[in-house]
Amino acid sequence: MERTVYLDNNATTQVAPEARDVMTPFFDKLYGNPSSMHAFGGQVARFVARAREEVAQFINSDPDEIIFTSCATESDNTAIRGTAEYFGKDTKIITTAVEHPAVLQPCRRLKAMGHKVVELPVDSVGRLDTDRLRAELKGTRNALVTAMWANNETGTLFPIEEIAGICKEYGAICHTDAVQVAGKIPVDVKKVPVDMLSMSGHKFHAPKGIGILYVRKGARLKPFMLGGHQEGGRRAGTENVPYIVALAKACELARLGMDAENARIAALRDRLEAGILAKCPNVRVNGDRANRLSNTLNVSFEYIEGEAIAYHLSDLGICISTGSACASGSLDPSHVIRAMGVPFIAVHGSVRFSLSRYNTDADIDYVLDNLPGVVKKLRDLSPFGPDSDPTTFK
Ligand SMILES: *Cc1c(COP(=O)(O)O)cnc(C)c1O
Repeated sequence: MERTVYLDNNATTQVAPEARDVMTPFFDKLYGNPSSMHAFGGQVARFVARAREEVAQFINSDPDEIIFTSCATESDNTAIRGTAEYFGKDTKIITTAVEHPAVLQPCRRLKAMGHKVVELPVDSVGRLDTDRLRAELKGTRNALVTAMWANNETGTLFPIEEIAGICKEYGAICHTDAVQVAGKIPVDVKKVPVDMLSMSGHKFHAPKGIGILYVRKGARLKPFMLGGHQEGGRRAGTENVPYIVALAKACELARLGMDAENARIAALRDRLEAGILAKCPNVRVNGDRANRLSNTLNVSFEYIEGEAIAYHLSDLGICISTGSACASGSLDPSHVIRAMGVPFIAVHGSVRFSLSRYNTDADIDYVLDNLPGVVKKLRDLSPFGPDSDPTTFK
């Protein structure tokens, strides 16, 4: 393949060369166990402590409120199942219909085990009705609210500061899956009073296999991983030192470069969006265009299949996705797009473009040069079109 245009950064990102480079000494020189008695391990523990400080600075928490995990899926599971285990069956769990499976599946498991679990709906652009949240919280004790900060498929932002404030008002515990905001908008847990927050290294240029769980001081939950005293007894298992150090570097890069990078990325995304709307008929943008991540564009090409578009673009070296990477492999339309009540003719044609700091103007030009032809070819083959009988879309 001559060329790769990678526009699937909400699925995973390139590891920043700076983050890759800081890891290497920890494989063959500084390979001690941070828990060891000897000084050889002790010096490694100091690097882990410094990394924890950098990650804490990234979200404005205290270092001992940071737990390193193996991924955001583990962070989400720990937050949700750990809280439910601490409080027992009396905890009501309130989540939303558009969460990542790493949140939805644990919530559904807890429901099957007898917990009260509510999935709040969203409107046609993916917004949450906070009055519904209040209504669900009325009369609860130790309820757990888990609502994502930004949606991975559409980029739509939830008003997390307001949600966390409502949780405080009702004495509820608030967790947010903040995977997609990392490096895209500033995160400050002093300003946004969530009790727990999840992030994933590989979504912002650290390696795959390292996650963050922020747990506010005093928050009560049972550890998910048992078997050691690491992470203050909250997450057993020998620390993944190389990835922890790389993660801290990715946090530093994001913290220092966020403003300039995101303005540039937003301009690229907006040019892509405008180009698609100008060059392709019967297209709709999914999500809250007024309140959305700078890097994400979810569009539906009516009357054709998103999978077919992604497949043809893949042949041209262009990487995009349909639904979430975790859901692809099945042809079921995305639960996020369906929850927004997107009309049937558009549900199956939804695709996501997600950018990163490594994308260029030339990438966008390449897509805009090639995508309209792919869409036209597929439309010419499609049995559906603006004139077909809508009752056949079943
Ligand atoms: C990718 C993603 C996850 C899962 O992160 P992993 O580190 O791959 O487990 C969770 N939530 C959201 C919103 C994501 O985009």
